[in-house]
Amino acid sequence: MSDAVEFSGIDPFTGEPLRFWVVDGTVSTDPVPGATRVDDAGWIVPGLVDAHNHVGIAPGLGVTIDQARGLADKDLRAGTTLIREVGSPLDTHPLDDDPHGPRFVRAGRHIARPKRYLRDYGVELDDPDDLAAEVAVQAAAGDGWVKIVGDWIDREVGDLAPLWTRAQLDAAVAAAHENGARITAHVFGADALPDLIGAGFDSIEHGTGLDEDLIDEMVRRDIALVPTLIQLETFPDIAAGADRFPTYKQNMLALHAGRHDVFAQAREAGVRIYAGTDAGGTIEHGRIVDEIEALTGIGLSPLEALAAASTAPRAWLGVPGIEHGARADFLALDADPAVDPSTLRRPRHIVCGGQRI
Ligand SMILES: [Zn+2]
Repeated sequence: MSDAVEFSGIDPFTGEPLRFWVVDGTVSTDPVPGATRVDDAGWIVPGLVDAHNHVGIAPGLGVTIDQARGLADKDLRAGTTLIREVGSPLDTHPLDDDPHGPRFVRAGRHIARPKRYLRDYGVELDDPDDLAAEVAVQAAAGDGWVKIVGDWIDREVGDLAPLWTRAQLDAAVAAAHENGARITAHVFGADALPDLIGAGFDSIEHGTGLDEDLIDEMVRRDIALVPTLIQLETFPDIAAGADRFPTYKQNMLALHAGRHDVFAQAREAGVRIYAGTDAGGTIEHGRIVDEIEALTGIGLSPLEALAAASTAPRAWLGVPGIEHGARADFLALDADPAVDPSTLRRPRHIVCGGQRI
């Protein structure tokens, strides 16, 4: 009992006082006698959530589990205690053995087709009709999510193009749901979106090609959006390296130019939007606060942007926040993040699995 720690502070989402105890890495809302007190921990929020991250990927392939652990630690030190890993060539499940590391909700490997994604990062299906069968395999390999590549440059077309037909996508969604998983898709352009949304995907990653009708359909079907705003800043660089494909180049630049309007429209319409950094490729780990800040650029208030990286994706992913019996994952902040969002850059405490990091 003497190891218990009592925290008290303010919940910025409600403005109410918050008081709880941490015992054996877990939150208790029942008082624990003899606990050490951390008086006035300031403002307390659930540990941050990065809803699109790849600790099993660094630039280049061949990340080892020890490297992945280091990348997860970098995210943790930025305040991320829950990672939705949307595709990794490396099985990062061994990281679940670390009681004081971020918690994961994973997809298995990306599902793509030959020459239609970063080479060797995902499973590349020669026959696209095998998609549903592979979805079942990757559902078993993950923790409740499957990720497919929805569009990528088709060098013969010279532009972004869908990888799958509507019938293949319908079968993929059915296979995911039959296997107890939700399914999401990487998609930059406009052409792949009608079929992905029509097939009933559970979320869309990036989604720069959305338009008003598709946004309305996402709201109607409760399809979530993880725009990965800081990743989209790389589009001009991608375009700059694509002189051989002028149509693709123009498309990437246009998608980049329109991104803020598209996402502001999605927010306005009521699409659920979650923070995801896409760390692991060109984006460094540990940048969740940059993504939160970027979300304010599409019209979210600082508190809404924080919710999009904490309370909201926790509910979506089914991982509790600061509740009795939950793993003790939270941040204590010096200032009210609604008033001073920069306080997230220097948390007073980051607590993960009950341990102060
Ligand atoms: Zn990604």
